[in-house]
Amino acid sequence: MSLVLVGLLALPAGTLLHLLAMRMDRWRVDVRWLRCLGCGRPVAWWAALPLFGALLQRGRAGCCRRPLDRLVLLGEVWAALSAVALLAPGGASLWHLVRDALIATTCLTTALIDWRFRHVDPRWLSLATLVLLALAPAAGAAWPDAALGLLCGAALFGGFARLGAALFPAGPTPLGAGDVFIAAFIGAAAGLTQLALALLPGMLLAGAYAAWLMLARRAAARRRVFAYGAWLCLGAWLALVIWPGG
Ligand SMILES: [Zn+2]
Repeated sequence: MSLVLVGLLALPAGTLLHLLAMRMDRWRVDVRWLRCLGCGRPVAWWAALPLFGALLQRGRAGCCRRPLDRLVLLGEVWAALSAVALLAPGGASLWHLVRDALIATTCLTTALIDWRFRHVDPRWLSLATLVLLALAPAAGAAWPDAALGLLCGAALFGGFARLGAALFPAGPTPLGAGDVFIAAFIGAAAGLTQLALALLPGMLLAGAYAAWLMLARRAAARRRVFAYGAWLCLGAWLALVIWPGG
């Protein structure tokens, strides 16, 4: 199967994952198939196509000019790139694919929830972390390495969160418990041997974004609250799914 086709088939999976991510949290998504979410008028079938519908409408609903949700597009592109990256090398075992797909979808849904709500769902992340640990031997990863990665990731970000709380006693702090859950998940996915490789890209991206916020004097920088965890997820996804071993 050609990789272009794989990417196209994965686009609706991204739409569904965005929906799932939002339903896992407080936000209840309004799903009205083939109706505009802004004004309720019927839309053409092509406008509802994943990615292409938004591109053809140039990012705004044709009826009421309401801006289309960019996080939906992000989820669709993320899912398509994940599917291509997972299937491109070929020859991977089924368990390996299941494990990598779990890493990709968990990074995707966690990043979307954190970006939208500045909040992380610890139940889902804990479950995904446990499943990753259970799958590690079947997917060719050493179990002690994955377990140590989990512990070190959690300890490292637990320390960062403590430090943040000490530096900003009045709160809100730059890092919270949600980031510790994310780091533990990334540790279980990468193992101790690749922990730095999986955490660093996200930390660098978050740092660059924070610097940009401060330079642009955005309100989010003054509140010191931005979606740090979303950047961690993006970095881990880049390191573990898009360029594994790179
Ligand atoms: Zn409309």
